[in-house]
Amino acid sequence: MAMKTPIVYSEKCLGYGSWHIEGPQRIRKAHEVLAQKGYKFLEPQPASDDDLMAVHDVDYIWNVKKGLVDDQDTPAYDNIFDYAKLSAGAACLAANMKGFSLMRPPGHHAGRSGAALGSTTRGFCYINNIAVAVRALDKATLILDVDGHHGNGTQEIFQDDPKVWYVSVHRHPHYPGTGTVTSGNCINYSLPADCGEHVYLQTLDKALREIDLEKFEAVAVSAGFDTHSGDLASLGLTESSYRQIGRKIASLGMPTFFVLEGGYRGDKNGLDIDQLLKGFEEKP
Ligand SMILES: [Zn+2]
Repeated sequence: MAMKTPIVYSEKCLGYGSWHIEGPQRIRKAHEVLAQKGYKFLEPQPASDDDLMAVHDVDYIWNVKKGLVDDQDTPAYDNIFDYAKLSAGAACLAANMKGFSLMRPPGHHAGRSGAALGSTTRGFCYINNIAVAVRALDKATLILDVDGHHGNGTQEIFQDDPKVWYVSVHRHPHYPGTGTVTSGNCINYSLPADCGEHVYLQTLDKALREIDLEKFEAVAVSAGFDTHSGDLASLGLTESSYRQIGRKIASLGMPTFFVLEGGYRGDKNGLDIDQLLKGFEEKP
C-alpha cells in the first residue's frame, strides 16, 4: 500500500484573524477531517530570514515585520510576520518531505515587494510560501497553481527564471485580474465562473501537455480549493474533481509537494484535500 502523503501542520496558524474570511476555521476543520482519516502530521519550523530574502525585497520583509503592510483585503495583524514565517517554513518542510502544507496565511498573491503585477492588494497573503520553498529546494521546478485565483505573486517572482516554470488554471474575470496571457515560462489559462469539471479537467490536460517534463526535477502544487462550487472563485468543481486533479498530477511522475492557498470552508477543504491526495497516491 502506498504511503500517505504527510501533512505539515501547526495549530499556531489558528491564532489570528477569526473575523476574516481567511480565518482559522478553514484550517481547523480540515485538520480534524484529515486526522480522522489517519493522515500523519509533521510540525514545521519558521523559515529563515535568508530564505525569505531569496524571494522578497528586504524592505518589504522589514515592513511585514513592523506591521506596515495593511491593505483592504490583508490586515496587518499583530505578529503577522511570525505567522507568515511559520507558513513559509511549513512549505519548505513539505518540499523536503514530499508532503502537503496545511497552513495559513496563504502566499501566491505576494510578489517581490508586496502586491504583484499591478494588483492593489495582497489578497490575504504576506510571504509567498511556495516561492520560498521552491527557492530553498533549488531544483528545476514546475509550479502548478490550481487555486481558483491567478497567482500573480508567484508569476512576478519567477517570470523569466531559467529554472522554474509556472502554470496556472484560474477564473477570469476575477481577482486579481492578471493571468490572461501566457508569457515565456508563465503559462496561464483562464476560465469563466462555474465552467464545471469537464471543461476544467480538459483545460488542465491541455496546460500540462505544453510542458516539457524533461526540464524538471520537481513539481510544486499551489493547492487552492476555492474552485469548489460555491466558494470564492468557484469553477463549479466538486469533491471528486479533486481526485481527478490528483491523478493528473501523479501522472507527471515527479517528486511533488503541495502548499495550501485558498479554500474558505474548512469541512469542505478537508474532504477536498483527502480526495486530491488519494487521487495522487493512486498513480494511474
Ligand atoms: Zn484563491
